[in-house]
Amino acid sequence: MKGMKRVVCSNCGAEAHVSRGRYRFQESGLPNVVLRDIEMIRCPKCHNTDPVIPHLNELMRAIALRVIAKKCLLTGQEIRFLRKYLGMTGEAFCNLLHVDRATLSKWENDEDPVGPQSDRLIRVITIALGEGLQERLGELVRHFKDIQECYHPLRLNASAEALIDQAD
Ligand SMILES: [Zn+2]
Repeated sequence: MKGMKRVVCSNCGAEAHVSRGRYRFQESGLPNVVLRDIEMIRCPKCHNTDPVIPHLNELMRAIALRVIAKKCLLTGQEIRFLRKYLGMTGEAFCNLLHVDRATLSKWENDEDPVGPQSDRLIRVITIALGEGLQERLGELVRHFKDIQECYHPLRLNASAEALIDQAD
C-alpha cells in the first residue's frame, strides 16, 4: 500500500506492513491504557500485530505516576502494576507492607479491596523506591487528601509522547 514501510513479520517471516493507530497497551498490566498513534507491524498472513512502543522506560514511569496520582483507591491490577514497576516479588512487597501473602494476593486479584491506609502506604513505597519518582514525593503526598473511597480503574488514552511530557 502507498506510503507504508515494508518489514517482515516476527512470527512467520511474511512481508508485513507498518501502520499507525491506537493500541490497547495490555502488556502494561493495566486494562484501560490506550496509546494513540503507535506504530504497528501487522502481518496480513498470520495476523500477528507487533506494536512498537516508544521510550518504554519513560512511558512506564509516566503510567506509574498517573496510578500514584489517581483520585480513587488502587485496584488489584494497579497494585500488581506498582509492585512490578518496583521489580519486587510478592514476598518482598509483603515484608515492606507488613501483610501476609494471602492479603496481598486477595488485593491483587480483586478478592478483597485494599484499605485506604494500605493504599497510601503502597503509593509512598512506590514513590520512595521507584526510579525517578523520589523528587515528586511532596507533591504526590499532598494530593492524598483528595483520594476518594472508590475503585474506578485508571483510564488513559493519549500518545506515549504526551504521557511522558505530562509526567515531567
Ligand atoms: Zn506473520
